[in-house]
Amino acid sequence: MSLQSKVAVVTGSTSGIGLALARTFAKDGANVVINGFGDAAAIEKERAGIESEFGVKCLYSPADMSKGEQVTEMIRTAEKQFGRVDVLVNNAGIQHVAPIEDFPDDKFEAIIRINLLAAFYATKAAVPGMKARGWGRIINTASAHALVASPFKSAYVAAKHGIAGLTKTVALEVATHHITANAICPGYVWTPLVEHQIPDTMKARNMTKEQVISDVLLEAQPTKEFVTVDQISALALFLTSDAAASITGAMLSIDGGWTAH
Ligand code: NAD
Repeated sequence: MSLQSKVAVVTGSTSGIGLALARTFAKDGANVVINGFGDAAAIEKERAGIESEFGVKCLYSPADMSKGEQVTEMIRTAEKQFGRVDVLVNNAGIQHVAPIEDFPDDKFEAIIRINLLAAFYATKAAVPGMKARGWGRIINTASAHALVASPFKSAYVAAKHGIAGLTKTVALEVATHHITANAICPGYVWTPLVEHQIPDTMKARNMTKEQVISDVLLEAQPTKEFVTVDQISALALFLTSDAAASITGAMLSIDGGWTAH
C-alpha cells in the first residue's frame, strides 16, 4: 500500500470520478479529504463508510470550489487535521451546453471558477507543504476537451485548456522537489455530469436521447464504450506511485481513442 500514512485531497468527490478516486486512495492506505455537494446524510454515510471499509481517516470539506478563499481554507483544514497534503486531485467540475451567442454569462463564469480557478487556489495552497516535505503528487482531472474542442461547450473547453496550461507550468516549477503535476484527460465517462448534459444537447442539436448518446457522445470515441471510473482510478493511483516519478507535465489521454482522430 504505497499511500499508507499519506494524505489525499480530492475536490468534487461526492460523486462520479472524484468519489471513485477518493475510495481508491483510501483503499491504498491514504487518509482522505472528500469535498463536494449533495445530500448531507448521503455524504456522511459515504465518509463514515470510507473510514470503516478501509481503516483510514476521512474528512468531509463542504468548501465551494467557486470561492477561492474556501478552496484555500480546505487545504489549510486538511493540513491542520492530518498534518500534510501529499496528493491533491483538482477534480470538481461542472458543465453547461449552449451556443456561444446564448451562453449565460453566469454559467460561463461559474465554469471557469470551478473547473479552472479552484485548481489554481488549491495548488497554490498545497505546494509549499509539498516542497517542505520534498514529495507531492498533483493530479488535475482535465478532459479530452483540454486537447480538442466540441461545439456548444465554450466555457468548459476554455477551462480545460486552461487546466492543461496550469498543469504544465506547475510541473516545471516544482520539478526538482520530487513533486509531479499531471492532467488526466478522460473521454466520456458515464457520471451525473454527462447524464445531466443530455437534455441541453438534445435541445441544442434537436436530437433524441439515444441520438445524443450514439451520435454525439460515443461518436467521438472509437471504442464506442464509455470510459469507466475504475480505469481512471487505476491511472491516478499509478501516478501517485514512485514508478511514475518521471511522468510530469503530461496530458494523459484515457479516451477510447477520441483524440487519436
Ligand atoms: P459529477 O457531476 O459526477 O461530479 C462532480 C463533482 O464536483 C461532485 O462531487 C459535485 O458535488 C462537485 N462540485 C460541483 N460544483 C462544485 C463546487 N462549486 N464546489 C465543490 N464541489 C463541486 O461529474 P464527473 O463526471 O465525476 O466529473 C468530475 C471531473 O471529471 C470534472 O472536472 C469533469 O469535467 C471531468 N470529466 C468528466 C468526464 C465525463 O465524461 N464524466 C470526462 C472528462 C472529464
